[in-house]
Amino acid sequence: MTQGDMRRAIARKRDGAALEGRQWREIVAGACAGTFDEASLAALLMACVIRGLGDAETYALTDAFVASGETLRAPDPRTVDKHSSGGVGDTVSLIVVPLVAACGVPVAKLSGRALGHTGGTLDKLEALPGLRTDLEPERFFDIVARAGCAIAAQSARLVPADKLFYDLRDRTSTVPSAGLIAASIVAKKIAGGAHGIVFDVKCGSGAFVREPAEALELAHQLVALARRFGRRASALVSDMEQPLGPAIGTGLEVREARDFLRGTRRDPRLLALCDQLAAAMLAVAEAGEEPPGDRARAARALASGSAYECFERMLAAQGAKPGALDRLELHGTKAIVRAERSGYVATIAPVPLGERAREFVAAFGPLAGIVLEARAGDAVRAGDPLATVYGTTDVADEIVRCFTIEDAAPVARPLLYGEIGAFSTARPASA
Ligand code: URA
Ligand code: CA
Repeated sequence: MTQGDMRRAIARKRDGAALEGRQWREIVAGACAGTFDEASLAALLMACVIRGLGDAETYALTDAFVASGETLRAPDPRTVDKHSSGGVGDTVSLIVVPLVAACGVPVAKLSGRALGHTGGTLDKLEALPGLRTDLEPERFFDIVARAGCAIAAQSARLVPADKLFYDLRDRTSTVPSAGLIAASIVAKKIAGGAHGIVFDVKCGSGAFVREPAEALELAHQLVALARRFGRRASALVSDMEQPLGPAIGTGLEVREARDFLRGTRRDPRLLALCDQLAAAMLAVAEAGEEPPGDRARAARALASGSAYECFERMLAAQGAKPGALDRLELHGTKAIVRAERSGYVATIAPVPLGERAREFVAAFGPLAGIVLEARAGDAVRAGDPLATVYGTTDVADEIVRCFTIEDAAPVARPLLYGEIGAFSTARPASA
């Protein structure tokens, strides 16, 4: 595609027309080859955000992204992956990956880094000394075969075009477009090689999508797109109006997952979402089997300790030093943030809490962060703890402003806003 063709494509998109599949392929290939400048690509992305992408365009863009790198294929056809669209205190992946593996279903998860205020599973795992996430494809699937599960980083060999587009979107405020988000997420999942995929689409002030209706629309789009690539897929839409679990920070979240899997502490919201996601992952893995697996399996794997053993096996296989998990303790310096008045906790702002926790980790190490001591809806008295900050003592004012306390109990928000099941439409064509 020449610079002139690109200029005409931008004008078409600006005026609301759709681009053809061939044009999307040439745009992605041209961007990777450096044929046209970043300004052109940025203008096109802004036109996409304002005009939206049709289903055929989103599919063509996803396909072009996948084609920009290698595509892996997990040897076991039951292999699943899960993807969260990004949240705060979202420790779910660290829990459900070994939990589902302990039920006998292989999990090959490709994860990302922290993005803005949202946490990244790779950063969390790397709080463990020795642990590697830069696994070559052969090693990735070898660990899945031996330990039951693995969590690896997207490498330069997989979907390099997404990295290029994503960095530019981050710099030009062109992230929030359902079509661009769907193409970015699904392309990575297709290249990662799992046969079944469960999407956890977050909605609320701490997510990239605010409104439940919009999140449900994105969830439908992710599922439809993954199915077009011959993968089994389902999705949940879950709340991100407050942090999901109490721990926010890399090492603190690994510690939360450790204690959850050991059974020493299980936050009810985390448990409720893990339960739903584990069931969805088992269903998508066994969508072709008769009869489908029973939902009580995950509860048994949790109760018997086999999920915890799977977690330890995966961490050891990925290089974590022996005993590293036990040594994850809370940072010695801490400050308790207290309620300034009595009432009900009405809101807990996820964005500033996520941003602060990230800064504490950067400044004071992986054992720093924030642990919530009260949740939305809790009744508190003046002086009761709202949160504990680890790593530093001089931020209490800032953290207390992340909480609002009102006289009346707030209307409870549901944890789940919707679900698109593995069986809710005709069975997809096999891969
Ligand atoms: N996560 C991604 O991987 N891509 C997006 O565009 C948004 C969230
Ligand atoms: Ca993401």
